[in-house]
Amino acid sequence: MKEIILCKYGEIALKGLNKSTFESMMVKTIKRRLRSAGEFSITKSQSTLYVEPLGDDPDVDEFMERLSKIFGIVKICRSGIFEKDINAITAKAPEYLEELLETAHTFKVNAKRSDKKFPLKSPEICRELGGAILQKYPHLKVDVHHPDVTVTVEIREQAYVHGDPIDGAGGIPVGSSGRAMLLLSGGIDSPVAGYMMARRGAVVEAIHFEAPPYTSERAKMKVEKLAKIITAYCGDIKFFCVPFTEIQMQLRAHCPEELFTILMRRLMMEIAQRICEREGDIQALVTGESLGQVASQTMYAMVCTDAACRMPVFRPCVGMDKSEIVEISRKIGTFETSILPYEDCCTVFTPKHPKTKPSLVEVEKAQNSFDFEPFIQKAVDATTVELIKV
Ligand code: ATP
Ligand code: MG
Repeated sequence: MKEIILCKYGEIALKGLNKSTFESMMVKTIKRRLRSAGEFSITKSQSTLYVEPLGDDPDVDEFMERLSKIFGIVKICRSGIFEKDINAITAKAPEYLEELLETAHTFKVNAKRSDKKFPLKSPEICRELGGAILQKYPHLKVDVHHPDVTVTVEIREQAYVHGDPIDGAGGIPVGSSGRAMLLLSGGIDSPVAGYMMARRGAVVEAIHFEAPPYTSERAKMKVEKLAKIITAYCGDIKFFCVPFTEIQMQLRAHCPEELFTILMRRLMMEIAQRICEREGDIQALVTGESLGQVASQTMYAMVCTDAACRMPVFRPCVGMDKSEIVEISRKIGTFETSILPYEDCCTVFTPKHPKTKPSLVEVEKAQNSFDFEPFIQKAVDATTVELIKV
């Protein structure tokens, strides 16, 4: 049975004149992410993209799985392709939908007739196919208001028949909102933050601070793995890795311990911004911070962090409870990796009693008491970069 996947888009259908730009972005993304799943063709019409897996025995499940992670698509329907002839449809479609219909109690048929030359009108198509379904599955009843299954027939270049759609990833296409640098740790929150920014159309790059030998090669590999997992949603990610040990040693030697985390965060921001400036065309920084989650994430602390930033800092998890962040991390598949117990540069150097209400004056004074500049520049120069591909 030949099949085709119908991808319906949500918000971008409302984009007016910009709609075709959004569509082309999505088509480009689909082409890139599906390429290694096999051959396929893609066409668009009426706020729907039609992805047809080609070849002898395409892995349609794999195509569906990948499409379900592409932002901009809200509903996905796996459909059988039938000859554009009512007899062919009534003869074969009931069997094609066997798995769905056998377990259902009620159903209805819905017809969309884009090809106005098709000899039957929509109500007639519904009646014919509904009758054929009832004949093959006598246990079923028609319920037009709350059916267990809605069978849809679309008469287009050919006839497509499908049951209810599954949910797509939602959001808007990656690439439609600018480019952001995600501060990616090995924790639960920052991969979720990256996912949420990509969902709103941002291209995401990632920067990670490591502190060898206090943090191990395996800790870094864990972060790379997290980046790899979210590429399914974000696309390829440029991954920057900054050696941060020396700066932390200087911090420890020259600054008050209670301000340690906040100073570290400010220095991370400074380095991240320099990398962004060097890269060019990156508009914002992104962190996984959530208001009040820990001492360094109070509003006072965030004020001190942002004062070190020339770029806007987005914190998509800021208003979320940990349990909500965990729920998303499970959904996107990062949770199991995030909870692996490897050390992070922040945890290695965590002060015993961090200040929850640091004032910007004292923070700046502490930072200015030592010349970090040569160490910042050295860290920037020693930053490595690799491309993490989908
Ligand atoms: P996460 O689960 O994202 O690690 P967290 O609850 O552990 O968050 P912190 O360790 O306070 O919180 O980090 C807050 C944010 O700072 C992180 O979400 C991340 O964006 C950034 N961050 C922390 N450590 C690093 C690091 N080693 N490299 C890059 N970014 C980091
Ligand atoms: Mg962390």
